[in-house]
This record gives sequence, C-alpha cells and structure tokens, in this order.
Amino acid sequence: MTAAAGSAAEGFEQAYGYAPEGVWAAPGRVNLIGEYTDVNEGHVLPIALPQCTRVAAAARTDGVLRLRSRRAEGTAELPLTALTPGAVQGWAAYPAGVAWALREAGLPVGGADVYVESDVPAGAGLSSSAALEVATALALTELHGAACGRPALARLAQRAENAFVGVPCGVMDQTASACCTAGHALHLDTRDLALRQLPFDLAAHGLRLLVVDTRVRHALADGAYAARRAGCEAAARALGVRALRDVPHEELEAALGRLADAALRPLVRHVVSEGERVREVTALLAAGEPRAAGPLLTAGHASLRDDFAVSCPELDLAVAVANGAGALGARMTGAGFGGSALALVEEGAADAVGEAVTAAFAAAGHRPPRVFAAVAGGGARRVPRGDLG
Ligand code: ADP
Ligand code: MG
Repeated sequence: MTAAAGSAAEGFEQAYGYAPEGVWAAPGRVNLIGEYTDVNEGHVLPIALPQCTRVAAAARTDGVLRLRSRRAEGTAELPLTALTPGAVQGWAAYPAGVAWALREAGLPVGGADVYVESDVPAGAGLSSSAALEVATALALTELHGAACGRPALARLAQRAENAFVGVPCGVMDQTASACCTAGHALHLDTRDLALRQLPFDLAAHGLRLLVVDTRVRHALADGAYAARRAGCEAAARALGVRALRDVPHEELEAALGRLADAALRPLVRHVVSEGERVREVTALLAAGEPRAAGPLLTAGHASLRDDFAVSCPELDLAVAVANGAGALGARMTGAGFGGSALALVEEGAADAVGEAVTAAFAAAGHRPPRVFAAVAGGGARRVPRGDLG
C-alpha cells in the first residue's frame, strides 16, 4: 500500500509538475454470492479486495478537470461545464462522469488535477470501474469539502457509470468499494442500501478464498447483460411485482406457473433461488460457519450456468476443476462470459486447487489464468500522508 500510494503521488508529480494534495484509494471487489440479484433490487454479499485503485489529486480553481492514468496515453482536459453524457469517450468517461454526477446532485465539486494508478485488473470482473469511480468521488468530495455519506457516494458513482459512461450496472460494485470493512463481507440490500458487516476472516477458520481470473471476456457479455436485465424486468411486470426480489422463495413454484412466457421462467428461478442462497450464506457467516457455504456457491454456479445462462467454458472449467481438486465450493462471480471465478478451499488444499485449474486451462488450450487468494480488505479511504513515502 505504502509504495503503491507513493507511486501514485509520484506519477502525479511527473504528470503535472507539482505535488498532489492527497491520495485516495478504493478497492475492487469479489461477490461471494448474489449474482444478478442487484439488478433485481435484491441482496448481495461482496468483499473488498486488497487490490486498489489510487487517485492522486489536487483541486483547481478554474473549473477544469485534468485526467491522467498510468494505464492510458495522454491527458484529458475537460471544462466541468462541458460535461454531458456522451461528451467523453474512453476511460476518462468514468472519472469525468463522477464529477458530472456529483455536480448534478448539487454537491459543490470544482475542478481538479487527477492521476490514476491501480492494481485492480481491468475487465476481470473485479470491478476496476467501480474502484476508479469511488476513488475519484472520494477525492473530489474531500478536495472541495463536499459532504456526502458513503452509500450516497456509491449511488452517484453508479449514476456516473449508468448515465455518463452508458453501462447499465447495478449498485453493488460501487457500494462494496465504498462501504466494505476489512475482515468482513458486506450484506447489502440494493433496494434501500441497508448494510450489514459480517465476519469474514477465513484464515481464522483454516480456509482460503481463491480467485481465478480467466483473463477472457467474451464479446457477448454486454448484450447478454442487457438482455438478462430486460428479461427480469419483463418477468417482474408479468408477475405484478416491482422487482423480482419481491417474489418470496416459498412462492417460486407458484410464480413460475403464472408466467405465460416460458423463456422467462429460468431467469426468475435463478434470481429467486439466488436470493435464498444469499440469505443462507449470510446466516452461515453470522453463525461463524463459513465452511458450510461451499455447496451453496456451487449451487449458485449451476443456476447461473443452466438457468441464467451467463457462464462460459472457461468459467465452467475453473469451477469443475476446483471442485474436483477438493474445493468446498466454487462459482463464477460477476456478470459472466469470462472474468473471474472463486473457490472456497481448505488452506492445505489451496495450492493443489490452483495448480489443477492452471493445468486444466493449459490442457484445454486456454490462456493461463491468474489465480490469487483474496482476503477481505477495507473500503475506500484517504491514504495517510505518512504512507506516501
Ligand atoms: P471491471 O469493472 O470488471 O474491471 P469494466 O469493463 O466495468 O470491467 O471496467 C473496465 C474499464 O474501466 C476499463 O476499460 C477502463 O476504461 C476503466 N478503468 C478501470 N481502471 C482504470 C485505470 N486504472 N485507468 C484507466 N482506466 C481504468
Ligand atoms: Mg465494472
């Protein structure tokens, strides 16, 4: 953290020729369970990753936003008054959209010089986009003395991604990045943003959470995401509920029977059964029994693969091989069609599971996956001055 934060400050200094006022960090996330429940106003259970995006920044008084990232060429220079949805393309749309959303909400946010650096892999389903948005939002609000609570900040970051960048994501990623606490999973009600921190110290239980970044992202991802969302909304309308989260698990079979459009049934079955799995995993974590969550993860994967149809061969392989090599449970995480899978494993089996997945990818002719153990990290924060090196 210290070296990385220092390097964000150094990058700023090289880019702009003076020292930043501060560095703000926001993490990526993995969702333990509750996939596509957030776009149905349901519950999710993410943890923050130790990997963070860091924004080194300083306020400007001329209403100009300058944006630069270690991952991209060039500097975007944008007058705040020119920010409208569609006006900014490429990566700069994420931080520019955040400035736009904060100002639209009436917060007194002015110009800034911004330098971005990150160790959250982009496009891996680990939410580098939310990490970038939340770190930017925290930097801009603190630089300009704008008061905004964390859940509200997350909502505005989501609005930036939805309305300014044009990605129809739910609110989970931004809330996880803004509101998680170290050593905990975050139980989030995405309808009212009610939060509950649940103990998630796997090491204390002799367990590990492996993340397998498949390093693939299939082209159908965006269209399929939008289509699944639209299908869920159509099903909710047909069932006469505001969102599928309002279909109780006990009434699932009856609800399926009432749906005339057979193509919508598997979508409803996934969303409603997934809501129940979130409830069960949450109860297990609250009871200090994370080990027992394994089979629920695997059941969640089967539901995403067979009913919601958003998995892909690489994710299915990672899950099957992890389970075959002794994982307690495994599933794809994130929107699917590539990205990452996770596996809950006994500490002693972690290496064998990781090696088995890597070997299976090689045998299938896939690119080598990136496998790492995830520990529940803290949410977004200002990096203490002393940590800037
Ligand atoms: P994910 O959020 O799963 O990583 P997304 O497609 O939602 O994948 O977001 C990735 C996009 O976010 C990148 O293509 C880029 O535009 C932007 N982004 C994320 N991190 C950075 C960064 N450090 N610098 C520049 N752009 C970034
Ligand atoms: Mg994203």
